[in-house]
Amino acid sequence: MSNNSNNGKVPAQEFEYKAEMKQLLDLIVHSLYTHPEIYLRELISNASDALSKVRFNALTDQDILGKEAELAIRISIDSKEMTFVIEDSGVGMTEEELIANLGTVAKSGTLSFMQSLKEQQKQLDGNLIGQFGVGFYSVFMVTEEVTVETRSARPDSQGYRWRSSGQGTYTIEKIDRAERGTKISFKLKEEHKEFAEEYRVEQVIKKYSNFVDFPIYLGEKQVNSITALWQRSKSELKEEEVNEFYKFIANDYHEPLDFLPISVEGKVTFKALLFLPKEAPPEMLYRQSELENRGPQLYVKKVLIQNECRDLLPEYLRFIVGVVDTEDLSLNVSREVVQSSPVMAKIRQILTTKILGWFESLAKEQPEKFKTFYKAFGAIIKIGLNTDFTNRDKLVELLRFESTKTEEGGYVTLREYTERMGADQKEIYYHSGNSRSQLLAHPNLEYFQDMGIEVLLLSDPVDVFVIPSLHEYDKKPLKSIEKADIDFSKQKKETAEPLAENLLAPVLQLFRETLGEGIEDVVESHRLVNSPVTLVIGKDGLDSQMEKMMKMMQSSMPAAKRILEVNTSHPIIRNLAGMIIADINNPLIRTAMKQLYEGALFLEGGLESTTAFLSRMNELIEAATLSR
Ligand code: ADP
Repeated sequence: MSNNSNNGKVPAQEFEYKAEMKQLLDLIVHSLYTHPEIYLRELISNASDALSKVRFNALTDQDILGKEAELAIRISIDSKEMTFVIEDSGVGMTEEELIANLGTVAKSGTLSFMQSLKEQQKQLDGNLIGQFGVGFYSVFMVTEEVTVETRSARPDSQGYRWRSSGQGTYTIEKIDRAERGTKISFKLKEEHKEFAEEYRVEQVIKKYSNFVDFPIYLGEKQVNSITALWQRSKSELKEEEVNEFYKFIANDYHEPLDFLPISVEGKVTFKALLFLPKEAPPEMLYRQSELENRGPQLYVKKVLIQNECRDLLPEYLRFIVGVVDTEDLSLNVSREVVQSSPVMAKIRQILTTKILGWFESLAKEQPEKFKTFYKAFGAIIKIGLNTDFTNRDKLVELLRFESTKTEEGGYVTLREYTERMGADQKEIYYHSGNSRSQLLAHPNLEYFQDMGIEVLLLSDPVDVFVIPSLHEYDKKPLKSIEKADIDFSKQKKETAEPLAENLLAPVLQLFRETLGEGIEDVVESHRLVNSPVTLVIGKDGLDSQMEKMMKMMQSSMPAAKRILEVNTSHPIIRNLAGMIIADINNPLIRTAMKQLYEGALFLEGGLESTTAFLSRMNELIEAATLSR
């Protein structure tokens, strides 16, 4: 079990990596990383985390090893020997922590994720490495063997040396070490000797770690610029610097879409620097729970207290990245106290108002930027309509929709809609479905298109939950055009004479008999222009799109019955009236009626058996070809 000697004292103990760990190391070193320089960012970021922990613990804990030691990261390199040393005065690690942290994979699922990346021949970019808790091992890209010497900040701790060549085993031995913190040293591989050159190391630190909150010394010189950007006033902020800062805290390669500096003095005092990312991380759109654990960083008097503070923003705004720094919380607050503090509630309220004002002014002053923002985060913002009733009115103004009067991808607001609708129009009409083209082809739209009445086209799945719950805007009810009770009294251009009442009644009656239980009623339509029939929903029925969603969640839900509307000026309906007079028992009539009904169902994606539909179609084609 043991080999290395330790000046004749207790020998070093050898440990095997867990099997999973071996595979992981192999993947990291041999196939995944594109930029070896990333190792430096990872080591600095670990050192910085360890320093933050000390700073935080020192607030409450008097018994900390080396209380006076400067909180800093020191790097020393030797270009002749090709050696690299990075040391921090952070929390360090106990023996158990060494084994737990540097001998196992921290997060479950990491290995399988890495393997799938490899299978897809993708490379692990800088954004992903840190997230999966494997940062430390990236050092094996540039070296054959790593030595970690560490001593925990606990007063009764001891020093340990951990050593590994990343090949399946590592050793741990006790050492004499006076200071708390961690020192990592290694000799660079020949092909990576650049990382023992000062200019190169400085370049990498500036690139990835410029905003680390502790001084990073390269030799005697401090390389990073620790500036609390959020403490500056707007006029003192340089866009370039702010963008770099964003990339650093958000771990994003892209520049932010926009940023907002905030400075508040009064009942509470705080400063903040907030960012809108350009794109939403995909997982955020699929899983609302992703938002639960996000939030800006919380600082108290420039000391980082929480990395992702959820209590600073309501859930629907937690895609915003940034820093909030207040003087009104005491430094030694616990997480529970943060949560329930009235100061936090106040900050949250002010931030929310400021952010909504930010969106509003973006919409007014930089509509293109707002559009990009809305495309990325509109669906998340809509969550707020059902959760943040205080700000509902403001949120409603942010909503954007495609409509029958916008281009594809263009937007109209509810305000614009109501301002341009006709004086005699009482309701705001919407139509929901899967895609713009499908919505535009629907028979229910014919009347509105014919009359030039604007209809909102809702193809975002969340819309069906959001829009009906709005009920009205500017005192005008929002109404689905699928509803039966719409006022069609405004005359549409008739294409042909409607059927006389005495001819129509038998048609409707036979439709009812033929379709039976499946349908709520069959009535004359006033909304159709080119189509023979359409399905609409009764007063209390759910939107068909909404119904589909509910069904997905609860499959046992019975579908609500529809009303079939019949276009009495359509040639098919007129012909059917004629056939009824000639011979009401002609089976072709009923076949045609069923087919018309199922065709309408088909259009909505509600047709269950396509085989019956097809064989009926063949029957009708046969009849049509026979009569020629
Ligand atoms: P991550 O930092 O994402 O958790 P790493 O593989 O980089 O993953 O590090 C694993 C763990 O090792 C860290 O979470 C931390 O607990 C510990 N660690 C790494 N470097 C240091 C350090 N310089 N000081 C103290 N602990 C460290």
